[in-house]
Amino acid sequence: MNMAEETAQLLARLGVAKAAYTSGDLAVTSPLTGEEIATVPTDSPADTTAAIKNAKTAFSTWRSVPAPRRGELVRLFGEELRAAKQDLGRLLSIEVGKIPSEGEGEVQEMIDICDFAVGISRQLYGLTIATERPGHRMMEQWHPLGPVGVISAFNFPVAVWSWNTALALVCGDPVIWKPSEKAPLTALGCMAIMARALEKFGDAPEGLLNLVIGAGDIGAALVESPDVALISATGSTRMGKIVGPKVAERFGRVILELGGNNAGIVAPSADLDMTLRAVAFGAMGTAGQRCTTLRRLFVHSSIYDKLVPGLKKAYQSVSVGNPLTGEALVGPLIDKQAFDQMQDALANAKEAGGKVTGGERVDEGHADAYYARPALVEMPKHEGIVRQETFAPILYVIKYDNLEDAVRWHNEVGAGLSSCIFTLDMQEAELFLSAAGSDCGIANVNIATSGAEIGGAFGGEKETGGGRESGSDAWKGYMRRATNTINYSKELPLAQGVSFDI
Ligand code: NAD
Repeated sequence: MNMAEETAQLLARLGVAKAAYTSGDLAVTSPLTGEEIATVPTDSPADTTAAIKNAKTAFSTWRSVPAPRRGELVRLFGEELRAAKQDLGRLLSIEVGKIPSEGEGEVQEMIDICDFAVGISRQLYGLTIATERPGHRMMEQWHPLGPVGVISAFNFPVAVWSWNTALALVCGDPVIWKPSEKAPLTALGCMAIMARALEKFGDAPEGLLNLVIGAGDIGAALVESPDVALISATGSTRMGKIVGPKVAERFGRVILELGGNNAGIVAPSADLDMTLRAVAFGAMGTAGQRCTTLRRLFVHSSIYDKLVPGLKKAYQSVSVGNPLTGEALVGPLIDKQAFDQMQDALANAKEAGGKVTGGERVDEGHADAYYARPALVEMPKHEGIVRQETFAPILYVIKYDNLEDAVRWHNEVGAGLSSCIFTLDMQEAELFLSAAGSDCGIANVNIATSGAEIGGAFGGEKETGGGRESGSDAWKGYMRRATNTINYSKELPLAQGVSFDI
């Protein structure tokens, strides 16, 4: 069976209608071999407008369904995901090249957010607030916000949608999803899985969940519509710089989850064996195509020669190749453009005095598949290309002598997503986590930058966009707050002692 046949079989098993992945105008290729695996019909801006209208109509009903009942739909979706985990995970590996455990791991993350959101559906708490006026009560309520437009990136093609959707649904909001044009098949799979949950649920309104397929212009149609209350956009900082101002112009709400240039510090007291294993996964896992991939490493000069040779060895020996036909830990880059950008960055680093280990193309026998050995680059200084996110497995390593320098370098990049320190020194760890330490949305001690769990709020500062998704109180981003004052007295006292007697 070739890969196109296997893809068709998986999609059919997931419940996707054949017409949705044959004879369309968008060719889908697998990065594993570069071969075409399906063609998907794309939507027009008019289709997008229709989807928004449907979502708006659905909102008028869904917002009044009790939140725990809304949670029941998410619970059912989680059950359907459990049943489809292997097939959807496999499809993820075929469509974006993840190794099997990461393909299934992404589906597990979807299941986890469903569990989390079901709990949240009974915890949409507002405050009761002390009032200065006698015979009055003050409180706040959280109400559904409106249709949510989810724009997602290729590298977490389905988990990010589920983070948004599970919360949006329990919060009372319909969703319109525009997946990455590089990963429409897993999106079709998710909608088919959701359709089964909707059927079991029974009385959800039409238009509660919508999918529009296309490139940036379709995303732009969502971004520009005043009927889309919230745009949750995940992708490059370049995309966020276009989307953010457009949504702001119409006073819409936005959650931006953009690029990262994540760094770690390895201090003299670090457990070097553990550090090496953490860095290897953080920097090489998912072929360096996680927003939280470890991209810069500041190593104290006293341990540099103990850690870096071992790391280089790991870079030289890690298995690179097709993870579905062998045991490779590092799969392909998404496409030629990603490979070219990696090579450009390495050439640039070399010119600036960088010493490169790895980085070369690995031949897997497919002209249109781009496998690259992860690159470790020892840099003399923290400047130039090091300060930019290249979405590929490149780890820049730089020596430091005092922690103050390392923290300063750490923070002097545009992005502010994820960060870590390896140390057994409590003062260093606490300093790194303090207001004067890492400026990122995620800061870790003795684990690397990637591999977040859904329980914590996920997102970052500065050019990462400032959005938060998933755990903690991220649900508030999908609701509007109303402050209510109720007078149960027969008087009308005004606040701040103001009198207005007529
Ligand atoms: P990308 O910016 O090329 O595309 C992301 C999505 O935005 C796609 O669906 C695309 O069609 C859409 N888009 C592009 N231009 C648009 C426009 N003008 N209006 C509306 N939509 C538009 O990103 P990518 O290559 O798919 O993903 C890689 C990038 O995403 C990296 O920079 C990575 O760090 C980032 N990322 C961030 C997070 C996070 O949570 N912070 C998570 C995953 C990926």
